[in-house]
Amino acid sequence: MNWHQSETDAVLSELNTQTQGLSADEAQKRLDEHGKNELTATDGKSVWKLIVGQFTNVMILILMVAAGVSYAVGEISDAIIILVIVVLNALIGFVQEYRAEKALEALKNMSAPQATVRRDGRETQVEALELVPGDVVLLEAGNLVPADLRLYDVASLKVEEASLTGESEAVEKQAGTLRDEDPPLGDRLNMAYKNTIVKHGRAEGVVVATGMNTEMGRIAQLLQGEESQTPLQKRLAKFGKQLSVAVLIICGLLYGVGILRGEEPLRMLLTAISLAVAAIPEALPAVITIALALGAKRMVEQEALIRQLPAVETLGSVTYICSDKTGTITQNRMTVQETWQPEAVEVPAGLDLPADQLLLLAMSLNQDVKQEENGKYLGDPTEIALVDYVQKQEGYQEDWPSTYPRKQELPFDSDRKRMTTFHQFGDKYLMITKGAAEALATVIDQEPEPMLEKAETLAAEGKRVIAYSYQLLDTLPEELSEELETGLTFLGLVAMIDPPREEIPQAIEDCFRAGITPVMITGDHPATARAIASQVGIIRSDDDQVLTGAELGKLSPEAFEQEVESIKVYARVSPEQKLNIIDALQKKGHYVAMTGDGVNDAPALKKANIGVAMGITGTDVTKEASHMILLDDNFATIIKAVREGRRIFDNISKFIKYTLTSNTGEIWTLFLAPLFGYPIPLLPIHILWVNLVTDGLPGLALAAEPVEKNTMSRPPHDPGEGIFTRPLIIHIAWVGLLMGVICLLTQAYALGQDNEGWQTMVFTVLCLSQMGHALAIRSNRRSLFAQGLFSNPQLVGAIGTTLVLQLAVIYVPFLQELFHTRALSLPELGGCVAVSSLVFWGVEVEKWVKRRSSKSA
Ligand code: ADP
Ligand code: MG
Repeated sequence: MNWHQSETDAVLSELNTQTQGLSADEAQKRLDEHGKNELTATDGKSVWKLIVGQFTNVMILILMVAAGVSYAVGEISDAIIILVIVVLNALIGFVQEYRAEKALEALKNMSAPQATVRRDGRETQVEALELVPGDVVLLEAGNLVPADLRLYDVASLKVEEASLTGESEAVEKQAGTLRDEDPPLGDRLNMAYKNTIVKHGRAEGVVVATGMNTEMGRIAQLLQGEESQTPLQKRLAKFGKQLSVAVLIICGLLYGVGILRGEEPLRMLLTAISLAVAAIPEALPAVITIALALGAKRMVEQEALIRQLPAVETLGSVTYICSDKTGTITQNRMTVQETWQPEAVEVPAGLDLPADQLLLLAMSLNQDVKQEENGKYLGDPTEIALVDYVQKQEGYQEDWPSTYPRKQELPFDSDRKRMTTFHQFGDKYLMITKGAAEALATVIDQEPEPMLEKAETLAAEGKRVIAYSYQLLDTLPEELSEELETGLTFLGLVAMIDPPREEIPQAIEDCFRAGITPVMITGDHPATARAIASQVGIIRSDDDQVLTGAELGKLSPEAFEQEVESIKVYARVSPEQKLNIIDALQKKGHYVAMTGDGVNDAPALKKANIGVAMGITGTDVTKEASHMILLDDNFATIIKAVREGRRIFDNISKFIKYTLTSNTGEIWTLFLAPLFGYPIPLLPIHILWVNLVTDGLPGLALAAEPVEKNTMSRPPHDPGEGIFTRPLIIHIAWVGLLMGVICLLTQAYALGQDNEGWQTMVFTVLCLSQMGHALAIRSNRRSLFAQGLFSNPQLVGAIGTTLVLQLAVIYVPFLQELFHTRALSLPELGGCVAVSSLVFWGVEVEKWVKRRSSKSA
């Protein structure tokens, strides 16, 4: 059936449905039949793929081949041990990646879009995934069209179909049947297609296709999303490649030196390859994903839902937070406080109402609030406040909405800052326009000055002001346009308060302490904005300016850039101007988080370094465009997310510090010995073992490190700097060398004593010194003793486990045989512990020096 060319009734009967919608049972049946309404079957990485992925590493493959060769020449136990360790390594990798996948999947499900449908005659929200052909869907501005719809009831609906037709101008839709020859997609005015954007108005339609059967589904193959890596992951992948080359050269050298010293060639080959496997941080990008994914999981518990993984990492670098006022900084719980009317308001002939009751009538008619059966209101909080107020007033009549039914409307949008409705009024039509006072100043017949003055006074008290006007028309306008909004009669002002959320002043203070500048952006009156901004502490001195959208429009980009850092509040701005604000700040080198809720905010959210959408009041479109969603719409949640972002960044950096230092230590240990004329100190299995137990457990436990004390009292991380800061590189270099040196000294001393257990001792020292290192780098500044050993129980557990395993390898006879170790006497073991602890003490001294020098600075 050609939906757009068929009459509504025919469409409905073909789909076996009605405007009352399907029954829940029928919907379920159809869901089973047609499948989910989704574009691609992206069910994450399969378990199998994850497992295979663990073994596709080139070095691992070479190692396995080499192990096979040594098996063939009779070194059976060595070969088996190598295999076991490789499998264990893969297992750990798999478990971690699987957990991360699961966490990401859960996040994805949480941000799945919803759709408003009518089922069993009642309007409800369902997951867009569960729509079926025949469902009746209600659209409003800000929705992403959830499926292909045949529209049959349309009110000023404008849809942007760029993703489908390439046309960026929004198309005005109509309900009528198209009788012309088959028009192309872009001209099918009575259809709305999946994933296009409702910019304006509202409509009702019936689902004609879902999932891959939609028009979007047909081109979905083209859109198959490529997996994107975070900037950090990209940088690490590149760094990893360079490092691999360096390690391979070193291993080649080591092999040569070993052969020259007369080591057995096959064993030497295995040693070199084992070192390569241990020292090349192949798993680094995967570990970053895991840390970010687990971090995102924690963030969602604090009401910040991450939609794009890189956001976790970039959050730590944010220097500016530009936040909406209404609902984010304030409670969005508005209460009308007072109304104001001019001395004489003309009342239309035929209406027997005094002026104040006429204002009530206007308030009760011009609104889109819905009331649920239990009396709860749904809709715009501003309008809920108005309706709630009106219904409690004396003189309000319950039958008004049915006596004066709405015929047409020009919906509210934050660019125009006003809306208009048309109502049947006997044989005439009553037109009501409400909006911001300035937005009405140009459309009323009266002198606007007194109204504007009064509005200013109310706004300076922190109140939100709505102005009302009306007009009687003889006929209903044929075509709806803004030009109709003229010649109206001013009716009065309504002022409401929306108090700031309790936790905001503290959150703002935290912001300043963390080197982040909070900025308020609002469509509200500048006086209202200034009053609220002062209350919560965004405006702190006379230098902090308030700029209006009109003023901003007059500034050149250069002039604006000059001033942008002293502006703390933007009032009466349009959503488009948010782009200018981001632009100017970014040019100044800032990292900007920007909040938004309406459709028109989507471009700004995309452009911001962190686009933050509102979870409760936000539209689908803004959520789609965002990096992060505030589930509670609360400004304070952004600060919590920043803290978490900084923690995760810190911990990733600690993890890198730990791993790369360990690897450097392992390289030095193997390399220094032959240079000083000693035999290669470790067997291949020792190297692989150290790599397994130290990287696997304690490394990851570092990612669980709780937030450091000074995290929110230091400036944001410089995003240009990357993770490899100078201090980090210096640390890796000197501590790695220290590890190598103490291993060398252990070897030299033990060999000097003709101690047969020298190899076991070096093996133990290398393992223990890495444990000590993990403990010491838990904080970048504080000593472990100030931090308390048990403040990261996971790490204590990991280190404990590693110690037990290491002791087992030394003392359990069966393992001794496999690992070619020897039981150490108590003094020997004590000596090893003492020598190993040098790394721990060394790093504690490093931190002490850091603390001292920053104190005196
Ligand atoms: P914000 O969300 O930043 O407070 P809005 O763009 O929602 O700003 O509102 C801007 C102005 O538009 C408000 O100050 C108010 O005067 C007016 N306004 C807000 N909501 C409505 C509405 N539903 N109908 C008419 N005017 C409105
Ligand atoms: Mg708003």
